[in-house]
Amino acid sequence: MTPAELFLPRLERVHELSSGKAGERRWQFSCPGPNHVNGDKHPSAVATETSEGTLLFYCAASCTFYEIVEGCGLKPADAFMTVGSDRKVIAEGFNLTYKEALSTLYHEATVVTIAATEAAKGTLSDTDLNRLYKARHRIEQTYLNTGLKPR
Ligand SMILES: [Zn+2]
Repeated sequence: MTPAELFLPRLERVHELSSGKAGERRWQFSCPGPNHVNGDKHPSAVATETSEGTLLFYCAASCTFYEIVEGCGLKPADAFMTVGSDRKVIAEGFNLTYKEALSTLYHEATVVTIAATEAAKGTLSDTDLNRLYKARHRIEQTYLNTGLKPR
């Protein structure tokens, strides 16, 4: 479950806005924070889901992130993606998700398997060999893009 899936059902008068940046989604909602004497009847808060899935809050009446989270009955950590979830980036500063990395590795492993089968039959063409080098390069790039260092 993403932070947006967790928070949005707990908010009132939720209305999706056109997105700002690519990969982001935004919703306007009535703020559950303390700076609205008679309740936030005309929605003054905006939630932004980043491309990494983190949910950010802005309230025009200056309620804080913590006050909005508390008003939803949730914890600050609930606004962030947890390890192993679909949109979590593998390492800080690298915009690569686990799903994207595994998908690439699975695809390239299939290419390697096909090339190995052709090689065993003695029918590996120059085109196949070039594709095999490309697979090696893509696997290496995926590994490097995770930001994970070899031990
Ligand atoms: Zn507010």
